[in-house]
Amino acid sequence: MSSEIASSSSTDDQERLRLLAALRESELIRELAELLASSLDLERILQILTKRTTEACAIERCSVWLRTDGQAAFHPTTYHLSTQRIDAQHVRAADAIWQHGRVLFDDPELLQCLEEQGIVLVDDLRAHPRSQEIAEKFLVGSVLLVALKREGHILGMMSLDDPDSTRTFSLEQQQLARAIGQQAARAIDNARLYEQAQAERRRAERLIERAQAINQVAVAVNAGEPLTNVMDMALHHLVQALGSDGGVIALLEGEMLRVISHTKQQRSMGEHKKLSELPACLQSASRGIPVFVKARDLTEPERQWFRALGLGNCILVPLMGGKSRAEGTVATVDQCSGLAFVDFRDPDYIPTRGQIAFAQDIAAQCALAVAKDRLLADLHTAAELANERANTLDAVFQAMTEGIAVMDENGDVLVRNRAASHFLGIPVNSKQRLGTFLQQFPTYTLHEQPLPPEAFPLARALRGERIRGERFSTIRSDREKRVIEVNVTRVHDENQHSSSYVSAFHDITEQVRVEERFQKALQAMLDVADAASGMTGVGDIMTSVLELTLSTLDCERGVVQKYNLEDNAFTLLLASGFADEEAEARWIEEQRNWLTPDAGCYQGFREQIMDGHATVINAGHYPDQPNPYQHSMMLAVPIKHKDRLLGLMTIDRSTHGQTSVFSSPKEGAFLQEFTIWELAIAEGIAQIAGVAIEQANWQYEAIESRSREAAMRDTNRMKDEFLAMAAHEFRSPLSVIQIHCQMAQRTMQKNTEEDTLPRIREHLTGIVGQTRLLTNIVHTFLDASNIREGKLVLKTELVNLGEIAQQVVDDLATIAQNQTISYTPLPSDCPYLVMGDSERLQEILANLVQNALKYSPRGGAVTVTMQHVPAENEPTRRHIEVCISDQGIGIPQDALPHIFERFYRAANSADSQAKGIGLGLYIVAELLRLHGGSIHAESSGLQGEGSRFIFTLPAFIEAQQFVAPETNA
Ligand code: ADP
Repeated sequence: MSSEIASSSSTDDQERLRLLAALRESELIRELAELLASSLDLERILQILTKRTTEACAIERCSVWLRTDGQAAFHPTTYHLSTQRIDAQHVRAADAIWQHGRVLFDDPELLQCLEEQGIVLVDDLRAHPRSQEIAEKFLVGSVLLVALKREGHILGMMSLDDPDSTRTFSLEQQQLARAIGQQAARAIDNARLYEQAQAERRRAERLIERAQAINQVAVAVNAGEPLTNVMDMALHHLVQALGSDGGVIALLEGEMLRVISHTKQQRSMGEHKKLSELPACLQSASRGIPVFVKARDLTEPERQWFRALGLGNCILVPLMGGKSRAEGTVATVDQCSGLAFVDFRDPDYIPTRGQIAFAQDIAAQCALAVAKDRLLADLHTAAELANERANTLDAVFQAMTEGIAVMDENGDVLVRNRAASHFLGIPVNSKQRLGTFLQQFPTYTLHEQPLPPEAFPLARALRGERIRGERFSTIRSDREKRVIEVNVTRVHDENQHSSSYVSAFHDITEQVRVEERFQKALQAMLDVADAASGMTGVGDIMTSVLELTLSTLDCERGVVQKYNLEDNAFTLLLASGFADEEAEARWIEEQRNWLTPDAGCYQGFREQIMDGHATVINAGHYPDQPNPYQHSMMLAVPIKHKDRLLGLMTIDRSTHGQTSVFSSPKEGAFLQEFTIWELAIAEGIAQIAGVAIEQANWQYEAIESRSREAAMRDTNRMKDEFLAMAAHEFRSPLSVIQIHCQMAQRTMQKNTEEDTLPRIREHLTGIVGQTRLLTNIVHTFLDASNIREGKLVLKTELVNLGEIAQQVVDDLATIAQNQTISYTPLPSDCPYLVMGDSERLQEILANLVQNALKYSPRGGAVTVTMQHVPAENEPTRRHIEVCISDQGIGIPQDALPHIFERFYRAANSADSQAKGIGLGLYIVAELLRLHGGSIHAESSGLQGEGSRFIFTLPAFIEAQQFVAPETNA
């Protein structure tokens, strides 16, 4: 390249012209500088610059080319065309290329010149191959290039030319252009700096705005604003800051993506879709990074869903929890709580990094809000659950029947439930010390001994004793005595120090009561078993059983009835507790109503008893109304043995003094029911009684059979004795008869007339006598038999007993040898008359006198006395008393009660050689009885002191009054 600078001759004109030009130039420069300084708007500055330069330098076109940071090439920036010479079509074409083309000025040769010299004059740019394109497109021929240099850096360049022509530039022009260039460079630099400052400020403002937006969302999140509010706010900021056309936030609920916030309110919020059906969303959610998707790239179902939500091209921003994900790492859908959709109508929109970062920050806040909301919901649920559990536990704690109290080491009650308060007798909320309530409510041992406070189980636990199942009794505020069982457990803290004591109280009052009842029941049954074991009589057993039952079950009255299977009836065995027999009979009669009810009456009680069940006879158990049993309280207990009904024990607890089941109750009468325990006791006792009765029956039968056997043996013995005795009795007379007969035969064989008759007569007399004896014996047997069978018939006639006695004594006196018999009746005002059978009366007297003779082997007097005596309980009537006494062998004391029994003979009678069959006195006593009289014997039992037989008969008194003799009065 060559440059040519015009030189001039130093003439005055020239000088003056030069000065004028310089003046104008400096004026122009000053003016331009002012103009340029008046604005910081680069565009305006460049417009002024180019326009003024064309004017000042008298050229048709001035263009400005600027460099962008650090680049060598110049971009076409502004130009001004002052000529009309170029046709409009060309201008428009060049204009379009200037504004929209990518033409750069990057000719290195020219650029270097420009660097070095600051100004370059090009004669014809079209000649420069590297700039040829520019030259052609912009119609550049000759051109002056002026560097816009500032502080050593070239900011750009200014080109001055006349389009499509070659020309020259004067030195002035060049200087002016250079000067303008300097001013322009300053102004451009300032404007650029200003522009940069402005851009920085705007950037800062934008950042602040975004930060504020994020902060607002964060504050809302932290403040616990409702999730939808937070989401609406976040979406609003997203849409605004990104300059978007709308947006949606949808949350992931399991697999579903559900819309929560929408900028277009008319859209349904209920739009939801499975994430797996939305590939773009799924990709963004699973990678955890925002993506920009275009509607046309979406699959049809996803596009439809987008369309339904009013979305087209979108930035999809996943709401990721935790730290933002570094690019390239893989997130899981689990960490994504939803997606924000920021919609852009422009499919070519490209979001800046800052926008993406902002969107991510907002999305992170959203994720935080979702997490917080879920956490809060979880917390809420957990709190509700915990609260519910706590309430339930507290309810359980309070509802426990076991009393729980927790004490600290000092005995201060820390916590207790209602039951414990109840047991300890203190209000639920009071924090009384152990000692205090023990003073208020003293405790006792189970043997009712006062328990000193220091011996109370809790006090002992505090001293380190182990308390397990200890019982004590106490009277609480309700005045009821309670038996409490307590266990104490020591609770250790983490350092194994005992920190508190948990005591569990259990009300065992009822249990103890049951134990006592059980003991009582057992004792009652043992007593019954004990009492019954020593007895053999059913009556004795039942008396003792009834008494024990009455006292055990606190009843006043009771009866025992025997059951007879054959006639299916109950008969009274014994009764207890009745005022008199009449009351007893009336009571028993009343019980027939239920025990043997008539047809059509209530059979239930009897049926139960017959089935063997203890039955309470009371209104409650009687179905019909009106109820006859409402005032009775009786317990009927069957006495059984092996399902065999033996009897019935009925005990009565009806109101005192009311024996009638039908009578109306006394005022305020109270029926004490039979408890299940009492029923059990009664049944137990009845069972034992059944066994005892059965045993007694066995014993009785054993004894009976033993005694029957003994009696049989006795009878057999007596029969043997009787046979022996009868044979003996019969043998003597029969042998006498036999001898008499033989003798008579012999006498007849001798045939001596004179001897025969008297001898035969003698023998016949003997035979007759012996036969009479035999007949008497047979009569005696017959009499005894008739008496026994009640067949003996007596004649009834008036008999003079004195005469009969005299006759008997006289008859026997003739027979008796060596013995005297006397009859001495006491003098009486009337004869000894009786109504009776004279033969039998004679028999009585004869028998007694004969015995007196028979049992007096050594002789001795036999006396018969007779007298009138007053009748025992009827002084106005009198009896005849006859006494036969002897001085014979007497009767032993032990034999006296038996001598009037059949076949009885005293031991000493056998020794006396006196014969007899032991029927005489039996017949005598029976005959006397049949006559309305009686007999007894008296004897010391000593040999020689004899016996006295005294009998009495009712005296027959005729008209005259009996007057006792003086001597007997
Ligand atoms: P027996 O035929 O044996 O005399 P009794 O019935 O007459 O029968 O008398 C019964 C018993 O009473 C006699 O066996 C005898 O032991 C006793 N007994 C009766 N009378 C007397 C009497 N007078 N003296 C002593 N014992 C007598």
